[in-house]
Amino acid sequence: MERTYVMIKPDGVQRGLVGEIIARIERRGLKIAALRMNVIDVDSAKQHYREYTEKPFFGSLVSFITSGPSVSMVVEGKDAIPIMRAVNGATNPVEALPGTIRGDLAIETGRNVVHASDSSEAAEREIKIHFDDSEISKYSRIDNLWLYE
Ligand code: UDP
Ligand code: MG
Repeated sequence: MERTYVMIKPDGVQRGLVGEIIARIERRGLKIAALRMNVIDVDSAKQHYREYTEKPFFGSLVSFITSGPSVSMVVEGKDAIPIMRAVNGATNPVEALPGTIRGDLAIETGRNVVHASDSSEAAEREIKIHFDDSEISKYSRIDNLWLYE
């Protein structure tokens, strides 16, 4: 069982794609363990994207991600980290396959609608930035639904 951090970025919220994106995550078989809509503060956004501090797109990325409400989630399930990366599709929507969120719903890298952690280290770090432990659901999963239980 893995947990990952997923964000519907401000473009996804503004375009009214929240339900569409959450439905895809749930239909795939992953479980939402925490969910919130808020405007992320600049410090959290800078921490979240700290590996890109020196990149030319860092400033515009941080101002975009904090420009309006976004939806933050903790998503869990077997192989949740690689599965969410596959559900989202390639970073550049030009390369994202049809059937992925970015391949179906986005056209440019700077407005690619979603985020998901790319490793277990990143997932742990990002979940801590955006959620308190007490916000993450501890309810037991439905018996016999998944092989891995
Ligand atoms: N990004 C950008 N321009 C670039 C590269 C990345 O605006 O040239 C943004 C884009 O929103 C991307 C985010 O920075 O989703 C993080 O980049 P990363 O390579 O980690 O892609 P991701 O993990 O989101 O697929
Ligand atoms: Mg990334």
